[in-house]
Amino acid sequence: MNSGKTIRIAAIPGDGVGQEVVAAGRMVLDALAEDSNGAFAFEWTEFPWGSDYYAQHGRMMAEGGLEQLRDFDAIYFGAVGWPTIPDHISLWGLRLAICQGFDQWANIRPVKFLPGVTSPMRKADDTELDWVVVRENSEGEYAGMGGRNLGGRPPGGEVAVQSAIFTEVGCERIMRFAFDLARTRTRKHVTSVTKSNAQQYGMVLWDDVFNRVAKDYPDVEVDSCLVDAMAARFILQPESLDVVVASNLHADILSDLGSAMAGSLGLAASANLNPERRTPSMFEPVHGSAPDIAGQGIANPIGAVGSAALMMEHLGFPAAAERLNKAIEGTTAAGVLPRDLGGNATTEEVTSAIIDNLQA
Ligand code: ATP
Ligand code: MG
Repeated sequence: MNSGKTIRIAAIPGDGVGQEVVAAGRMVLDALAEDSNGAFAFEWTEFPWGSDYYAQHGRMMAEGGLEQLRDFDAIYFGAVGWPTIPDHISLWGLRLAICQGFDQWANIRPVKFLPGVTSPMRKADDTELDWVVVRENSEGEYAGMGGRNLGGRPPGGEVAVQSAIFTEVGCERIMRFAFDLARTRTRKHVTSVTKSNAQQYGMVLWDDVFNRVAKDYPDVEVDSCLVDAMAARFILQPESLDVVVASNLHADILSDLGSAMAGSLGLAASANLNPERRTPSMFEPVHGSAPDIAGQGIANPIGAVGSAALMMEHLGFPAAAERLNKAIEGTTAAGVLPRDLGGNATTEEVTSAIIDNLQA
């Protein structure tokens, strides 16, 4: 029967609830494939990397791990980080090693209200919120440049330097990505987030490149906003936003704020893309390993399933992506809500409901 494409996916569940939500996402994707009339099937390879692997091997991923991943069509990632390991070691040892090693320079994080979900920000069930945060994912504040105790330990105590790197190439490619994305959307609006009043080199370059690139997109409306004012604007004028392009750090913070506004961090999906498709892209929920609820079977799988939808879209199956998103909406609209959204459905119950809604 299966005459269509076999999609080869590397699954890296990682730590904590990452394992639970990746398992849920795989079940939903397998159900989707089974019902695709042979259009596609998944071939999964699971990599047991993460904090347990670190405890046994002293490293977060296998040596030569990137080479093991390189030939897959996509990477489906859970979360990384556990209280027993410093966060910067687990993050750089696995997630950032993949993002930077594969030059996944565009991180997209859609923020949307779902039917049946109330949130601290939702004024009424018909209020709309529909943005995409586009995060520069290769440089900026996460360039990994700096050091501690440079030149020895001065008398006043230790000095640490953490440099933010902004390059013209890096700024221009993420901005063109944001503008191209805006063109596919109804509002066709891009807001650039900056802090060029205080950071007079990198962020001024960011602004200069934004203003230059904007000239090539006369059909797209633009504006620029300081990151502090932007945090307030998210809350006070959410309807003024469409595509929001921001640096690595600013977008990370703003997208957590955005997902909380939509109801919960557990809802938020993301894609780490190598838009040139030279390397596999990676799809993961925005949330972390959530040690406080891990192992209890109550994690919200919606962010992971939404990330699977972004994956199907990237792999050239937009109708499958649409089915996944509609199944999520059908589930929340019917009131099947996990705890973080004020309900009492377990991960398994939400997952089954999403699978049932694929048929609807
Ligand atoms: P990271 O540093 O990896 O981003 P974090 O410290 O920001 O992690 P998270 O692990 O994302 O923290 O958890 C933040 C809060 O959100 C916790 O209270 C957690 O329980 C909750 N949370 C995160 N993911 C989910 C989920 N899928 N379902 C329900 N609650 C979640
Ligand atoms: Mg976080």
